[in-house]
Amino acid sequence: MTRSISILGATGSVGASTLDLIRRNRDEWRVVALTANCSAVDLAKLAREFDAEIAVVGDEGCLGDLREALSGSGIDAAGGARALCEAAARPVDLTVAAIVGCAGLAPTMAAIEQGGTIALANKEALVSAGDVMTRAVTQHGATLLPVDSEHNAIFQCLQGNAIEDVARITLTASGGPLRTWSQEQLAATTPAQAVAHPNWDMGAKISVDSATMMNKGLEYIEAHHLFPVGLDRLRIVVHPQSVIHSMVEYRDGSTLAQLGPSDMRVPIASCLAWPQRMDTPLQPLDLPAIGELTFFAPDEQRFPATRLAREAVEAGGAAPAVLNAANEIAVAAFLAGNIPFTRIALSVEAILQQSNLPPAPASLDDVLHVDQAARARAREMLEVA
Ligand code: NDP
Repeated sequence: MTRSISILGATGSVGASTLDLIRRNRDEWRVVALTANCSAVDLAKLAREFDAEIAVVGDEGCLGDLREALSGSGIDAAGGARALCEAAARPVDLTVAAIVGCAGLAPTMAAIEQGGTIALANKEALVSAGDVMTRAVTQHGATLLPVDSEHNAIFQCLQGNAIEDVARITLTASGGPLRTWSQEQLAATTPAQAVAHPNWDMGAKISVDSATMMNKGLEYIEAHHLFPVGLDRLRIVVHPQSVIHSMVEYRDGSTLAQLGPSDMRVPIASCLAWPQRMDTPLQPLDLPAIGELTFFAPDEQRFPATRLAREAVEAGGAAPAVLNAANEIAVAAFLAGNIPFTRIALSVEAILQQSNLPPAPASLDDVLHVDQAARARAREMLEVA
């Protein structure tokens, strides 16, 4: 049976992994909408290959290029923030939400409001809009499937069990490419060094987040919303091999873990086939070759981001949205060569401390307002455009 799918953020790393799996099972899927920000030529190529109904660029300035690249194909082209939401609202069996950053929030909410199934990679959206998004999921009868490898692992470990029986959830963290670096080395880190992740091949923003450990902080908040066991039952453990993607401990002393290759096609396949399974081209784990699995407590002196995320989610209200927005601006400034690596977490902390935190956002518009205001403050602090 053919199922319909839309991929928001089709030109990115998660988008490419998703389309690789679709390509291998072409007869099973009908592609409805594919979106990008401004990679118009790449997007048009994908839309033609997968015979999409519509291709959308978030940046309206790139619509001319998209139209030109799609001319004669019969595929609709659209551009701008509103067009992204309209495309996301087209009814489909599965929406893959893989835009990076809070820019993905409104389109993801548009998909949720259709009451469909959303494979969520866009963690920043859930971090910023946690309660607003989970309320909308309930209200519209939507289903969220976690794509993030850790949350997908937890989701799998929870199957057939009651959340009340969970004693603790352990999020594993690779520790990133700079895990063993000294404070002095961290201060001199270049963007190329920060994005060179030892285990995962990912987009630039999440790669920097992995290097600062903010990725794990965002995931801590994400887990809090997806698996409401209480913050005291959530912990982070550094596991440099990235073989165990996360674990759930139960009150009887059993711990269930999900293991797999460090390739996003594994958790994405789990979402595409859910509640069944599908083939992937990946080799099973060769445990004797891996040899050893090691575990460490996070070092929050050198990598304060997990502490900042924990403090933000404990503070609640608008704090996680402020944390996320400040981090997005700081990561972009670091990647552009405008601030040193260690200033990312320092500036996020300063913005959180400086902010007269607004009350908890009650709607999508509230979240977007908090996000924009925090971005403006972060830009001002870092003196970036
Ligand atoms: P990439 O940077 O590789 O891709 C991002 C995608 O979003 C691209 O299609 C990009 O379009 C689009 N995009 C960027 N900005 C905007 C915008 N303002 N409006 C509309 N579209 C936009 O990111 P990743 O694939 O690495 O990550 C995507 C999300 O998935 C992130 O939230 C990340 O944290 C999460 N994730 C990623 C993992 C990975 O392995 N990569 C693992 C787990 C989670 P364009 O090409 O035009 O810029």
